[in-house]
Amino acid sequence: MKAVVYNGPRSVSVQDVPDPKIERPTDALVKITTTNICGSDLHMYEGRTDFEKGRVFGHENLGEVVEIGNAVDRIKVGDMVCLPFNVSCGFCRNCEKGLTAFCLTTNPDPKMAGAAYGFADMGPYQGGQAQYLRVPYADFNCLRLPEDAREKQDEYVMISDIFPTGWHATQLAGVQAGDTVVIYGSGPVGLMAAYSATLKDASKIMIVDFHPDRLKLAESIGAIPIDFSKEDPVERVLELTNGRGADRGCECVGYQAHDPQGHEHPNMTMNNLVRSVKFAGGIGVVGVYVPNDPGAPDPQNKQGEILFDWGLLWFKGQSIGTGQCNVKDYNRHLRDLIHLGKAKPAFIVSHRLPLEQAPDAYKHFDARDNGWTKVVLKPAA
Ligand SMILES: [Zn+2]
Ligand SMILES: [Zn+2]
Repeated sequence: MKAVVYNGPRSVSVQDVPDPKIERPTDALVKITTTNICGSDLHMYEGRTDFEKGRVFGHENLGEVVEIGNAVDRIKVGDMVCLPFNVSCGFCRNCEKGLTAFCLTTNPDPKMAGAAYGFADMGPYQGGQAQYLRVPYADFNCLRLPEDAREKQDEYVMISDIFPTGWHATQLAGVQAGDTVVIYGSGPVGLMAAYSATLKDASKIMIVDFHPDRLKLAESIGAIPIDFSKEDPVERVLELTNGRGADRGCECVGYQAHDPQGHEHPNMTMNNLVRSVKFAGGIGVVGVYVPNDPGAPDPQNKQGEILFDWGLLWFKGQSIGTGQCNVKDYNRHLRDLIHLGKAKPAFIVSHRLPLEQAPDAYKHFDARDNGWTKVVLKPAA
């Protein structure tokens, strides 16, 4: 089959790789019809993780079940399914509690919890930027989609990662109806956090970035854009909240945070959040931070350490929630919102392309070229 293979920093190609097959009786094989390029793919694409050359990218996947193992009970051939990016077992101590991002059995590294398709340090699973994908524990990991699955694929595929991840940011921050919310990062996840805050009836949503195309999309769903290449974002948030700071804040940027000139400051977003959020407010951090960043410019950052304003955080009595999203905790609800027409997360999609154009799409998305807000690939086209 054809798949998007990582060749080394800033190089991917569409190559022939062996077809996946049923390896365990609990597996299913899914023919991928829609798969996204994600901002987290870019950390790996840029060589800023230890992702192995020759592996296949892709953790935001949707398609049709074409084969099932003998022990698969609920999922049938022909079902249209969306796959949470987390590969989880459903029976470990963490999965039982709904913490599927921290599954204790699917990652073979005993020092790690949690696994994902085509992701650095998250187990050996191949990605779905390919014609077919092997899905372990298929009964648990496949979210079955309703009869409008095919025509609404670009909406439903967002519940593999970015829609629940944005939602998770607002959950971790504690967003409730009426809250004021500041979101740092207007990339796909930041936009989904803003969208989730609108679905939760936040009273005022402010979003900080410097890419005009992304800020414009945020404005289109009712968020107040703050361009930090033109103004101090903390001052602006304080001004918009009567000097108090936002009730809740979301971090949707991650460790490669950089200023408009392109210089990286991995502590920039976190410190700005502490200053932008009110005393006793909540902060949700879903932007990716890594324990090892060999490509970092600074020796501390290489070990995942950042200079963080702990004193101000403590003094303000803020709470912080962090980590990858437990997609299964939210995906049925979000699917139903899409099915009933109450949520349309595909508003962020800028490009729908065949798999062959993935290398070019990676280049544009990585360069944050104007208008490349979200790419969906169509391997079956
Ligand atoms: Zn993703
Ligand atoms: Zn588990």
